[in-house]
Amino acid sequence: MQERQLVLVLNCGSSSVKYKLYEMPGRKLISSDYLEQIKRDEYEKAIASIFEKLPLDDVSIIAHRVVHGGEAFKQSVIITDEVKQEIDRLSRFAPLHNPINLIGIEAAQKLRPEALHVAVFDTAFHQTMPPSSYLYAIPYEYYEKYGIRKYGFHGTSHRYVMNRAQEMMEIPKEKLRLISCHIGSGVSITAIRYGESLDTSMGMTPLAGLSMGTRSGNIDPGIIPYIEEIEGTDITGAMDVLNKRSGLLGVSGHSNDLRDVMKKAEEGDLRCQLAIDLFTTLLHKHIGLYLARLNGVDGIIFTAGIGENSPEVRQMVCAGLEFAGVILDNEANRKTKGEGFISSPYSPVKVMVIPTNEELVMATDAYQIYISSPEIALG
Ligand code: ADP
Repeated sequence: MQERQLVLVLNCGSSSVKYKLYEMPGRKLISSDYLEQIKRDEYEKAIASIFEKLPLDDVSIIAHRVVHGGEAFKQSVIITDEVKQEIDRLSRFAPLHNPINLIGIEAAQKLRPEALHVAVFDTAFHQTMPPSSYLYAIPYEYYEKYGIRKYGFHGTSHRYVMNRAQEMMEIPKEKLRLISCHIGSGVSITAIRYGESLDTSMGMTPLAGLSMGTRSGNIDPGIIPYIEEIEGTDITGAMDVLNKRSGLLGVSGHSNDLRDVMKKAEEGDLRCQLAIDLFTTLLHKHIGLYLARLNGVDGIIFTAGIGENSPEVRQMVCAGLEFAGVILDNEANRKTKGEGFISSPYSPVKVMVIPTNEELVMATDAYQIYISSPEIALG
């Protein structure tokens, strides 16, 4: 019998703190909450106020979300001083996230030093990518000396939906080729071959790949100095345009929230319609890339805010993939709430909606590490 433990999952984002408390191994969610609009110097206080409401003395494991794990972390690890130093070193790739993840770790360690603290990385799942996926065609020394390469993100989400797809399809993941589409305010698509990430759309940073709520995704890098010139700004200003004023917001000129953009488009707003067309066309084309990368596919997964909730987007993305054996069941697509198949029973490629659950993966990882470290489990 495996022992019952309370596992706290902590996610310190760039302006929020979220937590979920699970009882493992039963995966029972005990409580959850989040605090928003937190400034950089308020995180310790925010975490302390969360911890006050928890049965902290009973929490034996704390799982921390860390955005960038670089090449050092291929899986979740127990947090040591060396691990913290490496997370700090990787801040140069994720300046908005890693420093805050570290503040969260240190605050939680101070408040509950007896617990086992585990780091779960957004990049870890993609560490199986081969060089032909992760290298950029720039001088190789930049990779060797400075780590400039594709890392990929949303790894915990892609891993969760991959495992669920395997269960739903009743085919072991070692035999499956999947394309996983995480479409929320951030967007990434991953080509998954035999249980491993083969390629993914985000890059060295989460700005790359598809068009998102406010992020541009891939553009011609030659545009950047030109934006600086026309805006009379510097590189920080130009990057701000690409990170905060682009994507759905930039094209529509209206909102970064797909629901608002769709509503306006229905009312006849042409730029909102254009924003949706561009958003879905980029997704469609990227699936085409991965159909080639995987030599065909067994399943396509839609997840996150838009992927789980927008039958319109799913329909637009899949239309024109019939040649590859992707045939949607329009009624199932419209009606599916939560998990389910939305492809026709005759479709060679299965299409699935799978609500993501990154926190459950984090709790499971941390619990597994705990029980496989007997010296810790025995106290
Ligand atoms: P994140 O966790 O990255 O902030 P989410 O995964 O929650 O983002 O996704 C946010 C996006 O999901 C928003 O663009 C929102 O418009 C979209 N979304 C949520 N619900 C719906 C819905 N019912 N229909 C269409 N889009 C939706």
